Amino acid sequence: MKIKSIKCVPLRGATAKGGWSNELKPEDSLHTLIEVVTETGLTGIGSVFTSSDLVEGSLQILNPLFIGESALEGQRLRECAEQSQFWRGRGGAITHTLSGIDIALWDILGKSTNQSVGVLLGGKYRNKIKPYASLLFEVPEKLEAVMQPALESGFKGIKLGWGLFGRQSSKMDEAMVKKAREILGDRSLMVDAGGSDGCWPNTYKWAINTADMLKDYGVDWFEEPLRPDDIFSYKKLREHSRVPISGCEVLTRRQSFLPWITEGAVDYIQPDVTKVGGISEQHKIAWYAYDFGIECIPHGWNTAVGLAADLQLVSAIPTANWVEYMRGNPYIDDLWLNTPKIDADGYLDIPNEPGLGINWNYDNIEKFSGILLKENY
Ligand SMILES: [Mg+2]
Repeated sequence: MKIKSIKCVPLRGATAKGGWSNELKPEDSLHTLIEVVTETGLTGIGSVFTSSDLVEGSLQILNPLFIGESALEGQRLRECAEQSQFWRGRGGAITHTLSGIDIALWDILGKSTNQSVGVLLGGKYRNKIKPYASLLFEVPEKLEAVMQPALESGFKGIKLGWGLFGRQSSKMDEAMVKKAREILGDRSLMVDAGGSDGCWPNTYKWAINTADMLKDYGVDWFEEPLRPDDIFSYKKLREHSRVPISGCEVLTRRQSFLPWITEGAVDYIQPDVTKVGGISEQHKIAWYAYDFGIECIPHGWNTAVGLAADLQLVSAIPTANWVEYMRGNPYIDDLWLNTPKIDADGYLDIPNEPGLGINWNYDNIEKFSGILLKENY
């Protein structure tokens, strides 16, 4: 089964806020879907965490490496493509775009063998997983309105991040966390400083003091408390913090994760399947981490396709407790036909159908992209 074409499908018009100091507008292109079509008409869908301009440019370089090749040998094609692009964007737009192609090829492999991606990754350790709702911090008076819809949907854990946290005062940080804990009761609370924000002002001393405060409110983990490249401070912080430390959502390529894992810089590692190089890379990172006692909790601030890939991944690693679920993002909520429901215990079923196991809402994909995709051509 040969690859016939690879299409760039930009999502625009409902791009969600990221909490960044340089905030996005709804019409900004930040997430781009990829459609891979085979000669038999079977298709797969992937997602890329970058603008459609960069994906279009990357596809000009990558298309000749994929078109006419076997759609069932995605890992080899992805690896060869990346190794051939040392001088043309490897680790950047090329790797981001390869993420989308890789996810789509896993989807095709699953559909053509009638197996879920989780089975093809070696087998399913679980059929359900707890999602946590990922939300942006607001001032204490506004937090209830931000958090209540997630609690009504059945989430048993909420992560609050970015906004004013770490950007105004330690007093404000504690007031927001205190209010969130009151609202949540004994449900799980995670805190994401968003240290990958541009010009993040805080360093180790702020992070260790803040970690101490978070421990008093029973926070499950403290995410991105430091600049994303500062592995030296992360190692110290992980050693001395009384709450678990998480990070690495901005890294690409499995090799970049190795020092963070082998040197013990985090307790939880958070590769993003839509930028790290796809399911193939994310799966390897999760296993490297597992062997060093670090749990993989996929970064999910992307699209429904990214979440679908994460669900398959967490089914196929021995230890997994959470997936990130970005609440209220139309590129997640509106792209499924069979939107996954959270059960009474706070779990999501992991699809068992072939490939990613999702029925996509092609009308809504067309609404955001202007491009009509199909399951089969
Ligand atoms: Mg984060």
